Amino acid sequence: MSLKTVAYIGLGSNLSQPRIQVTNAVEAIAKIAQSKVISVSSQYLSKPMGPQDQDDYINAVVALETELCAIALLDALQLIENEAGRVRKDNRWGARILDCDILLFGNETINSERLTVPHYGMKLREFVLLPLAEITSDLQLPDGTKIQLLANQISDNGIVKL
Ligand code: ATP
Ligand code: MG
Ligand code: MG
Repeated sequence: MSLKTVAYIGLGSNLSQPRIQVTNAVEAIAKIAQSKVISVSSQYLSKPMGPQDQDDYINAVVALETELCAIALLDALQLIENEAGRVRKDNRWGARILDCDILLFGNETINSERLTVPHYGMKLREFVLLPLAEITSDLQLPDGTKIQLLANQISDNGIVKL
């Protein structure tokens, strides 16, 4: 029996040639075991959240069909962040070479120490909703909220699709 889940992963970078970081991250995600990339959004140029004394971000969203469980996927994504050279600092939302967040994991709701799914901030982030809406037409959150509706309503905050 196949237990494939479609997970949506949000990528962000604003250090060390962010466009290349995001492209490389997609390549690395394509190599995750028992998984297959099924679609990749355009790259977007967005304003930083939180501290404004940092460069703009490049964001994208990847849809990954996977047989892994959510925690195993998080492990794989954190390895990719680390291999890109991410250094975890205390300043939340500060500049980073690569961020890979699990936005959705099928229709699952997860609240564990390491994982909150759907991602807690996704409804309020244009740099998540717009690329996600680009690659999905009728996707819903586990609570039934339609992604296209959220994307239509969010303030675009000057985001540019590249
Ligand atoms: P934000 O969570 O606001 O987007 P961030 O992505 O910069 O901020 P990180 O430093 O990348 O935060 O992650 C902090 C912790 O968040 C991770 O160690 C991870 O265990 C936890 N986490 C909880 N839910 C998720 C999720 N859905 N995707 C990725 N990490 C998550
Ligand atoms: Mg994040
Ligand atoms: Mg993160």
